[in-house]
Amino acid sequence: CGVIGVWSPEPIDVAGMLQLGLFALQHRGQEAAGICVSNGKDLVIEKDLGLVSQVFDEARMQKLRIPGAKLGIGHTRYSTTGSNLRFNAQPLNVRSSKGILAIAHNGNFVNAMEIRTQLLEHGAVFQTTNDTEVMINLIARYAKLNLIEATARSMRELKGGFSVVLMDRQTVLALRDGNGVRPLVIGRLSGGGWVFASEPPALTLLGAEWVRDVRPGELVWVEGGELRSMQVLEPSPTPCAFEWIYFARADSLLDGVGVHESRVRMGEQLALEAPAQADLVVPVPDSGIGAAIGYSRASGIPFDYGLYKNPYAGRTFIQPTQELRDLKTKLKLAPTPAVRGKRVVLVDDSIVRGTTSGRIVQLLRDAGATEVHVRISSPPIKHPCYYGIDTAARKELVAATHSIEQIRELIGADSLHFLSEGGVRRAVGGPVCLACFNGLYPAGTPEGEGQKEAL
Ligand code: 5GP
Ligand code: SF4
Ligand code: MG
Repeated sequence: CGVIGVWSPEPIDVAGMLQLGLFALQHRGQEAAGICVSNGKDLVIEKDLGLVSQVFDEARMQKLRIPGAKLGIGHTRYSTTGSNLRFNAQPLNVRSSKGILAIAHNGNFVNAMEIRTQLLEHGAVFQTTNDTEVMINLIARYAKLNLIEATARSMRELKGGFSVVLMDRQTVLALRDGNGVRPLVIGRLSGGGWVFASEPPALTLLGAEWVRDVRPGELVWVEGGELRSMQVLEPSPTPCAFEWIYFARADSLLDGVGVHESRVRMGEQLALEAPAQADLVVPVPDSGIGAAIGYSRASGIPFDYGLYKNPYAGRTFIQPTQELRDLKTKLKLAPTPAVRGKRVVLVDDSIVRGTTSGRIVQLLRDAGATEVHVRISSPPIKHPCYYGIDTAARKELVAATHSIEQIRELIGADSLHFLSEGGVRRAVGGPVCLACFNGLYPAGTPEGEGQKEAL
């Protein structure tokens, strides 16, 4: 998911700014989008299933453009828990002793079910099936604490990977779990306002200056126009490696590490670990481009576009059903004449189910490639993600049930190699979560989903 929050000392077009920011975060979720704005008195939420461009038509924008608006939050949804239903769209809101609260969340709480059960026993009512509602109910329950203290307390009770923006009618808060699994950055508007967003491109689009990342375990908020901070949880940084491998935008800078640059380094590393005798390095667009550039650089094998991507076909993986994914892959990619008669190194960022890769290898052969050597700039995905990336049910992960040689055969490649865990770590340059590759979950697992099974 993508989250954003805006706070301004003076009335401003909050709805318009959030809409722009959500455009820059669309890649983080395409199932639903929502915006909540307030002018200190009223609080309005508009949300629905669909892309930002579909949800926020003129009629909806009109409703959001309330007079005197100074703050708001927004969300793009990518369903990991809770099904793809309209009432699961965010921001979510509750009325409480603290007034109205609204929340937008990226990630997953691994102990949401336990807390939900406790809250139900205390009379809480839930409207949705997603775990975000647990946090907002938890905050609302601490009636004696102010919003900041209540939010900090909820951070101490919740486990998992989460980046959250939260608002009442006066202020916006932003927070990150102690491992900093999901990204979250802080920006400054020229008029003295503040922006919190999943990734820096949302700041750039709003003309906000990048200030810094929210630190793992940190809670920040705006008070009297100033940014305030509380280090609520002991920081133990293990940001999600998959953000750099695939999920984040190539022009993002997360925790001080450029996403495109790290992808190029993954490709360079891959060329060292898994060289190939070939004539051409071809990326699977768009997610394989950075690594293909790196592979070409380090190997000296020329880079070329061997696959044309229909820019209107969308991101196939995020389609919720396999049927939709199958159809969309066909719409999406076509081979170019560059591959005819060539031994091709095909570079992609990851293999999940193996279905796309298999189809692409066949496309290249049909177009006259004499050999296809597949190189993947991440290790085999063998374990589920419990922190907000839908790497599919375990049984669907091809590497969970097949050896590398079996996968090679399945996708019809002449050779197949994956980047090592060490290679990913070196490319990112710091400690990262690699749980979907190695089963070591730094931020815990849901009850009943033992860490041991993963080890
Ligand atoms: P497969 O060959 O496993 O069917 O598909 C692999 C492709 O899925 C890669 O190109 C990768 O970029 C893409 N992909 C899209 N979304 C996701 C996602 O959320 N997780 C993973 N692991 N891969 C994804
Ligand atoms: Fe990222 Fe994988 Fe860890 Fe999930 S399990 S947070 S996708 S590295
Ligand atoms: Mg891809």
